[in-house]
Amino acid sequence: MEKGVGLFRTEFLYMDKNSEPTEEEQFIAYKTVAEKLGEKPLVIRTLDIGGDKFLSYLDLPKEDNPFLGYRAIRLCLDRTEIFKTQLRAILRASHYGNVKIMFPMISSIQEVRNAKAIVEEIKEELRNENIPFNEDIEVGIMVEIPAVAVHSHVFAKEVDFFSIGTNDLIQYTLAVDRGGNQDIAYLYNQYHPAVLRLIQMTIENGHKEGIWVGMCGEAAGDEKLIPLLLAMGLDEFSMSSSSILKARWIISNTSKTEVKSMLDDILNLPTAEDVEKFIDENII
Ligand code: PEP
Ligand code: MG
Repeated sequence: MEKGVGLFRTEFLYMDKNSEPTEEEQFIAYKTVAEKLGEKPLVIRTLDIGGDKFLSYLDLPKEDNPFLGYRAIRLCLDRTEIFKTQLRAILRASHYGNVKIMFPMISSIQEVRNAKAIVEEIKEELRNENIPFNEDIEVGIMVEIPAVAVHSHVFAKEVDFFSIGTNDLIQYTLAVDRGGNQDIAYLYNQYHPAVLRLIQMTIENGHKEGIWVGMCGEAAGDEKLIPLLLAMGLDEFSMSSSSILKARWIISNTSKTEVKSMLDDILNLPTAEDVEKFIDENII
């Protein structure tokens, strides 16, 4: 089992201060981690601000539906000076380890193309300045909006990897706020068959196009889901360190073929409760 960092959330660099972090500050932060990891992968997610995360110095608009609003890649493609500074820092750090770039909250192919075009622009800038970076750096997207999962056969042709962000994917698929709203919290469920089907579709479509598919939402560390995710062929699991030992044990002790033979039945169960019960009784 290869180790690494499947989701480096860069927001903290922006949130811990009263002004935007400079290119140099970011470069040092990314390079330090990249060097520590050596050959092991470091997936750096570009700024995922907005939604529930604010930056006082950015003067973000007040929105009625912030989770459906001006956030993450949408903001970065609009305020390109912020995005370019971050990409320069990430690309420079890529010279010192196995760095990959990941864009959050992608909903359209155009966003992928625009973001990649900016990466190319920055590469050209660095080349002209004789600053070293990894020319072959992998560029991937988070799959956290249902439209991308449904259309993943097309998205897979445009990127080097997918990472499924279940925290948001569940919220948007089930139209349930991911935190805080106690009256409807019972509806937020990672075992919902529709969520599992989107995950399966994303993995299959990624593989058909020859790219790897990981998961970086909380569900990747869910003991009951891990056997299903393995059977679906998930290539990479990114989870909080407290879940790793248990997850490793489950991964080593799961019979992929056995769970694979049950997948169709599981995905056709009517409710999330049925799925969880099935796993309790037949898998774990
Ligand atoms: C996710 O949405 O699953 C995710 C990993 O990103 P975040 O929790 O930062 O939105
Ligand atoms: Mg997210």
